Amino acid sequence: MAAAGPAAVNVVNCIWKDAPKVDTNFAGLFRALGLTADELAAEKGEDHALVQIKRNSERLEKCETHVFEPAPNWRATPMFGQKIKCTRCNGVMKTHDAMTYLRGYAHGSGADYEAMTNAIWPPGDPR
Ligand SMILES: [Zn+2]
Repeated sequence: MAAAGPAAVNVVNCIWKDAPKVDTNFAGLFRALGLTADELAAEKGEDHALVQIKRNSERLEKCETHVFEPAPNWRATPMFGQKIKCTRCNGVMKTHDAMTYLRGYAHGSGADYEAMTNAIWPPGDPR
């Protein structure tokens, strides 16, 4: 194993120097994670990113059964990073998470997973 050179020492010094700031930021983040969306919105406003994330999580958690809106043009944009909206709760989640949800739903209910996913993400030309 090579000995730590000057670059590694600089990284350690930088981390050490910023440690109090990092501690403060993490403490604020952990505190925010423990608040409800309403409590956080009262402090930060509805437009704050964490408030929006918490609102979305609340919508998704309260929804009895997600009904994802069809995405007929899903092939036009890269799959990585795509999100899909539930028409019932207006919650938004990553497409991959929605597919996992539907697989679990189909497994538990006996519904046809392929038929459900084909209705949302229509199969394209196999070329
Ligand atoms: Zn939903």
